[in-house]
Amino acid sequence: MVLQELGQKIRDALNKLNKSDEIDKKLLNEMLNAIALALIKSDVNLHMVKSLQEKIRSQFDEMEEDVGNKKLMVQRSVVQALQELLTSKKKPYKMLKGKSNVIMFVGLQGSGKTTTCTKYANFYQKKGWKVGLVCADTFRAGAFDQLKQNAAKCRIPFYGSYTEMDPVKIAEEGVSKFKKEKYEIIIVDTSGRHKQEEALFDEMKQVSSAIQPSDIIFVMDSHIGQACHDQALAFNKAVEIGSVIITKLDGHAKGGGALSAVAATQSPIIFIGTGEHFDDFEQFNPESFIKRLLGMGDIKGLFEKIQDVYSQEKQEELAGKISKGIFTIKDMRDQYTSIMKMGPLDKVLNMIPGMADIMPEGGEKEASKKIKKYLCMMDSMTEAELNCKDKIDDSRAKRIARGSGCHFLEVKLMMEEYKKFSKIVSRMGGLVKGKGGDITQIQRNPNAFMNKMGSVIPQNILNKMGGTGGIMNMMKEFQNLEGLQNIPGIKKKYKKGK
Ligand code: GDP
Ligand code: MG
Repeated sequence: MVLQELGQKIRDALNKLNKSDEIDKKLLNEMLNAIALALIKSDVNLHMVKSLQEKIRSQFDEMEEDVGNKKLMVQRSVVQALQELLTSKKKPYKMLKGKSNVIMFVGLQGSGKTTTCTKYANFYQKKGWKVGLVCADTFRAGAFDQLKQNAAKCRIPFYGSYTEMDPVKIAEEGVSKFKKEKYEIIIVDTSGRHKQEEALFDEMKQVSSAIQPSDIIFVMDSHIGQACHDQALAFNKAVEIGSVIITKLDGHAKGGGALSAVAATQSPIIFIGTGEHFDDFEQFNPESFIKRLLGMGDIKGLFEKIQDVYSQEKQEELAGKISKGIFTIKDMRDQYTSIMKMGPLDKVLNMIPGMADIMPEGGEKEASKKIKKYLCMMDSMTEAELNCKDKIDDSRAKRIARGSGCHFLEVKLMMEEYKKFSKIVSRMGGLVKGKGGDITQIQRNPNAFMNKMGSVIPQNILNKMGGTGGIMNMMKEFQNLEGLQNIPGIKKKYKKGK
């Protein structure tokens, strides 16, 4: 069973529980069995599934009688037990600023090491780290070319050799070159073999003792399922594995077996690969993962993504504008550009609670296509048009259509959409500014806030997001986020509200 299907099955089981008036052992067992079946079909180890059931059962026995409360508590224990399934005891390596962090990648041939090295390098480089790649794979023909091409695509400096056949020597030279040049993250891609064998383990040990890595990352293909457990242990015997990256967890992959098996080896999973493109790469965190799987959204992850793409100034500027109710076409362009930078749209949308149910299948593909088209049109506008200083009449719309290779009516459509947005923002301005705007006010008088909110967000979407209660929870989660206090305007109010 693929992951989305697993999530749906668990959601269904939980919903059934929520809808019933009473909750007894029989109902609990039905729910647990449905969840267990889904987990087993997703290739999760039978013992693990059993112990998950036991845990929830024994927690249920200790719960108090209040039905409403009980439902919540059962739900919480299910979520927690699922999270535990994916959590390892060991903490992952934390990158140190102002130091050369040497990261060595190991794994079998074809597991996705070289691709993952590039994704990993790209991830940190985008965050502003100085990153270099070293190709120490002399086993596979063309390995250096592959890394070189990947690195060039992402504009990441690389080191390797066509003539040197000793991987230890290349690794040492590459690392020391990048160290001298004060690179902060030096990534070493090593060779693999088709199967676990002594030659591979010997080479790994030699390279590792030569470069003394800060962290060793084991790359594993999710398709081997539960076998991940034994493979991780075998590699860990040869060198000290710090963290794991699971690859090929694309939409149609089973994945449950691999993800749960790794946690049992005590090596934390830090990223997952979800496709061949360099953007198909996600930070892995059991809490976010389970919440998204269950359609509960991932506010923390979303906030991190937003912080990634919005600079401090941009955040301030936007907050200021929204509070004044101003929203120009240029602002819309900025928003769209930022959304596109956050990565695949479906992944971003799934972080919003309830979105999984709103978005029609494949809808996000259409949406990204549309956004790209809009961005083209906006590129054909003048500065005055973007700033809404010049009105866009039919003849201007025709010019924009010609300039961007779109149809005149498409430009009109974009203008309609812009008007809708700007109306929402001007209403939001009323919501945020003045007497009743800040977050503490929401807490003091949630009903009044929600009434206003209802006039901004369409009712059907509000319902899907868990209604007023859901939005309140989201607000609370937002308040607890680190970094939120740094946004001016929220700072004072946030402190007062505490
Ligand atoms: P290596 O031998 O371990 O270095 O593996 P490579 O990086 O050369 O990858 C082997 C193949 O797996 C390549 O065709 C990659 O494009 C593909 N690949 C790597 N990661 C992923 C992933 O997350 N999803 C998918 N679908 N393919 C991947
Ligand atoms: Mg490779």
